[in-house]
Amino acid sequence: MNLEKFKKEKLYEPRLDSYSLVLRHGSKQIFYKKHSPFVSGQPVRGDGKRKLKPDSIVVLPPKESYFAALIDGDWWWVEGCPECNGQKRSWSTYIECSEHNVCRDCGEASSDASRPLWAQRDGWQCNDCYWIEKNLVRQEALRCFDESSFVEGSYVDLDGEVLCPYCGEEHYYEFDGDLQIDDQQCDVCLHTFALSAKERGGDVLFTSRRIEEKELSDYEPE
Ligand SMILES: [Zn+2]
Ligand SMILES: [Zn+2]
Ligand SMILES: [Zn+2]
Repeated sequence: MNLEKFKKEKLYEPRLDSYSLVLRHGSKQIFYKKHSPFVSGQPVRGDGKRKLKPDSIVVLPPKESYFAALIDGDWWWVEGCPECNGQKRSWSTYIECSEHNVCRDCGEASSDASRPLWAQRDGWQCNDCYWIEKNLVRQEALRCFDESSFVEGSYVDLDGEVLCPYCGEEHYYEFDGDLQIDDQQCDVCLHTFALSAKERGGDVLFTSRRIEEKELSDYEPE
């Protein structure tokens, strides 16, 4: 990433003159000399708190989404929120300003949103929005599946791809040589099906079978 474009303001902190390394911990910036800012041999306790070396320096940014970066020998505060930088959020976005740290669908702020939060391509979804979308996709897939195209009990060699017997979604299965296979859950329609394998002439063939009623109502997560 070219940080030059996103630098916001100079980080004035005379104590940092001989420091060239920084670690981000939440919005905290921990400056250190070498190897690690933490005392080595210190066990990581349940709360994740480790003891900082005496020469480690903690500085809080002027804005939550800023992080410190050494650019051409000077420390700068750099904007880390992609949307503030004119980009889109992604699966891996982990710095967001308070304005943009919201559910991509309903706009609920992170602190108010239903949990768990789900990382998605264009920013995270709150739990409610996640399940609303998941159920829409599920119902669409179940309704659109042409069941006449699926013959239950026929074995196929699809390089490990068998069809979900409820919605027709291709299901990838990594065969590990064990013909005893656990029941599978389709990640589109969320129904559970049985998957069986058999060997014939050196090939492994698969078949899938319904083990519950096809249900169009909303899936209720546990
Ligand atoms: Zn932002
Ligand atoms: Zn939402
Ligand atoms: Zn399915």
